[in-house]
Amino acid sequence: MSVTINVNGREITAEKGEVLLTSLRRSGIHVPTLCNIDGLAPSGSCRICVVEVEGQRALVPSCAFPIFDGMKVQTNSQRVLQARKAIIELLLADHPDDCFYCERNGNCQLQSLAEQYCVRSRRYAGMKNSYLPDSSGESIIRDANKCIKCGKCVRVCEEIQGVACIDFINRGSHVTVGTAFDQGLNISSCVNCGQCVVACPTGALIGKSHLNRVVNAINNPEMHVVIQHAPAVSISVGEEFGLPIGLDVIGLMHAALRRIGFNSVFDTSFSADLTIMEEGTELVNRIQNGGVLPMFTSCSPGWIKFVETFFPGNIPNLSTCKSPQQMLGAVIKTFYAERKGIDPKKLFSVSVMPCTAKKFEASRPELGRDGYKDIDAVLTTRELAQLIRMFGVDLTSLEPETADTPFGERSTAGKIFGTSGGVMEAAIRSAHYLLTGTELADLTVEAVRGMEGVKEAKLNINGMTVGVAVVNGLGNARKLLESINAGERNDLHFIEVMTCPGGCVNGGGQPYNTSRDRVIARATALYSLDATESLRVSHQNQEVHQLYQEYLGEPNGEKSHHLLHTHYHQREALV
Ligand code: SF4
Ligand code: SF4
Ligand code: SF4
Repeated sequence: MSVTINVNGREITAEKGEVLLTSLRRSGIHVPTLCNIDGLAPSGSCRICVVEVEGQRALVPSCAFPIFDGMKVQTNSQRVLQARKAIIELLLADHPDDCFYCERNGNCQLQSLAEQYCVRSRRYAGMKNSYLPDSSGESIIRDANKCIKCGKCVRVCEEIQGVACIDFINRGSHVTVGTAFDQGLNISSCVNCGQCVVACPTGALIGKSHLNRVVNAINNPEMHVVIQHAPAVSISVGEEFGLPIGLDVIGLMHAALRRIGFNSVFDTSFSADLTIMEEGTELVNRIQNGGVLPMFTSCSPGWIKFVETFFPGNIPNLSTCKSPQQMLGAVIKTFYAERKGIDPKKLFSVSVMPCTAKKFEASRPELGRDGYKDIDAVLTTRELAQLIRMFGVDLTSLEPETADTPFGERSTAGKIFGTSGGVMEAAIRSAHYLLTGTELADLTVEAVRGMEGVKEAKLNINGMTVGVAVVNGLGNARKLLESINAGERNDLHFIEVMTCPGGCVNGGGQPYNTSRDRVIARATALYSLDATESLRVSHQNQEVHQLYQEYLGEPNGEKSHHLLHTHYHQREALV
């Protein structure tokens, strides 16, 4: 029910029952928050969103205070501003103050609030902790000294991702966030998704940078350095340079990467098409030959580690296909190296991913051969922007360039891999063709699009009903797996799972500040490409066909199985 409330002397419309912060935001009234997470119940722990409500003796947290008819609110009274400033001063009392060396310098909510509320001197000298940063994991670094105990990481990990590998530990002024038994992230059940990193308002959680490795390789005249970029990168990296959200800068990015010194530039969407050829063939084989169903997609490395850790009994359900990153890495180190006459040991293969878990994936010992890895370094979208700035390249002044051959073509089916439902839609298009020999009458599969956590569809292909589900966010995946394993669901043949809510467009390596609107805009940009380009199916990618003819043989054949497929293993769940 709509009611009228008075905020700072002006009337606004609010909904009875909702919390004050929601009404304020809808009316364009900004109130700072540090612990609030869209879509989750308020915790009210940071108190920075306090406001004054007439009739209440104490200031109230707007994130948790319910609307009532006729309420009068002051969001910027002297009392409110002083309280917020005191909270920031207290948070900074035991802070290490090393902004200059901090990854979040210039993009830190605590730093911004200190600036906005004119904190110019230290009023409280707190006891500083001296925790050793945990850089044991492949993807994430934790620095508990910079933790302000907002709890966002803990809640994201447990309530959204269903992993719960971190929680508050210790007591009193020693409280901080840690893993079970305060062990390193590397032996915890962390799946490296990086959702805690994008949620963290400070530099207490950051991605592990591979920038130095890449810069060293570029500056090594002995090395031939190639780079590939995932579908969700080109429509989000522009945000780092103030360009419109969702603007596809793929041509400018190719030009920038060549200026930086990469010898070849490839689009991972090419190997997304290759993945569809392999995964689609695997699915059809499983359906026709009584293989393990439902088959799960395997391109999201956080999801793979999640199954290995929490649902090892479902490992046979995982497609054996490597992810597109690893498939392209494998053919770069073999086919491309052979064609160019380059010793694979002198070939440094870089990927740019919207994802922190891809760093962990690239380090998996089974993903390489003859003592060298498929992928040598993984940059996140954020690190790519840093690299472009480091090399002094003005992205917007460049002329667009295309990707290199032999992996230069991609369909839009490969491009929409970057959003939840994209892999499934690409697979449906090609599975239909593989099973019937004809293209789908309408290539757009609306039922699997959108940001909902679980989407399902029933498809009629050649008289057979195929049940598919699309899941994003591991908490949603956990629920679906539990119902499948309990025998409650036996109508599904193929399930796409993306670790991050909304898919790679919202990956843990994407530009910070991933509001829902921003994530939707990125996904919309991918679908716009699909709506306007003519090559919309993976099985019509001529360079993929050429790769099979000249090198791989056939999908799921001996050579492609050797290069493009992998295996998984059970891991101990330490929570
Ligand atoms: S977390 Fe923020 S305030 Fe703390 S050192 Fe880093 S940039 Fe500075
Ligand atoms: S990376 Fe993901 S799984 Fe690991 S602690 Fe962060 S949210 Fe949890
Ligand atoms: S690590 Fe970051 S997100 Fe987690 S409680 Fe500390 S400041 Fe908050």
